[in-house]
Amino acid sequence: MARENVLDQTRENLVDYFVAHGHKSFRATQLMQWIYHKLQLKFDAYSNMSAALRVELAERFEIRVPEILSVHESRDGTVKWLMQAFSGDHIETVLIPDRHRQTLCISSQLGCVLDCTFCATGKQGFNGNLSVGEIVGQAVQAALWLQEHRPDDRISNIVFMGMGEPLLNYDTAMKATQIFRDDLGFGLSRRRVTISTAGVVPAILDMCGRTTIALAVSLHAPNDEVRNELVPLNRKYPIASLLAACREYLSSQDVKAIITFEYALIRGVNDSPTLARELARLLRDFRCKVNLIPFNPFPGSGYRRPSESRIRAFQQILMDRGVMAMTRTTRGDDIDAACGQLVGRVADRTKRAERYRRGENPIFVPVETIPTTSLAG
Ligand code: SAH
Repeated sequence: MARENVLDQTRENLVDYFVAHGHKSFRATQLMQWIYHKLQLKFDAYSNMSAALRVELAERFEIRVPEILSVHESRDGTVKWLMQAFSGDHIETVLIPDRHRQTLCISSQLGCVLDCTFCATGKQGFNGNLSVGEIVGQAVQAALWLQEHRPDDRISNIVFMGMGEPLLNYDTAMKATQIFRDDLGFGLSRRRVTISTAGVVPAILDMCGRTTIALAVSLHAPNDEVRNELVPLNRKYPIASLLAACREYLSSQDVKAIITFEYALIRGVNDSPTLARELARLLRDFRCKVNLIPFNPFPGSGYRRPSESRIRAFQQILMDRGVMAMTRTTRGDDIDAACGQLVGRVADRTKRAERYRRGENPIFVPVETIPTTSLAG
């Protein structure tokens, strides 16, 4: 029988296992403390368990994390890991330190099907979903690395803003967030775990009442005409339906919850004062903030970042109209770790990477190929 990965299991799963096998439920607590608090991944070392129980665990389970293939540290302290997923494909994980936070940006899929025109991940194609253990394992690896290299630092925030669309790997992503939130896991409060989505509306609706984590939505344009070009998924779930789902999510949360709208500013594409005013009108009555991300270039993108003054003007128009807006400082760009620059190598099943290299326009995924079947009921 294949052994299951302990990192795939939530606390409830582990309690169920121990109880069903004639053990006390506190064994689940002990097991999780060893893994997530003490970062000890060897059953042999679990000194508060009997030898017989350790043998049983080793027969039924393994503790498997993606292997670190290389580590790059930026001048600004950002760290990027290239890791090997269990399929052999490569994924990237990034740690972004600032004064008060250590934000870990994790990947949820091998590549991405969405193919947003300005994102490097989409250009490499897609080879499937990551498992809970591969998602949680990225955080375990980052925590182990910090323990060794920066012992004073701890992961304080986790964002699903690496490779992939977390809401197209929905059940898995939700399970991983439970482990990130759990006191016996990473113990992060709900505002410190953020799912970022290009707008998978049915999944956002399903999150209402099921979770309280923070939601970030990659908007990038105030109208369907511009957004259809940048985010092909918009043709399936246009802005009106996306914002309706966002409102629904907000109304399922406490009054302090807000939604973050991400807006990659691209020169001559979505950075005009007219679009800024349109965006302000769209979001005026929304409990939200806007994160402006100056476009991060990658080879062959064909896009450019706007000038500083153009970025400032866009932000000012939003603020003058009462929409909270920040410009995200670019981090880790010297090691290609900035937003939209993550491109581990995956065995592309979509042939998109090949067409992109040949210079064909691979931009639009037929919307019917976008899987939504991972959605629960
Ligand atoms: N699929 C999810 C999460 C991954 S992308 C989503 O779309 O939200 C994380 C953020 O980086 C998104 O807001 C994305 O639109 C943005 N991004 C992607 N490529 C970028 C680029 N080249 N420059 C700046 N931001 C980019």
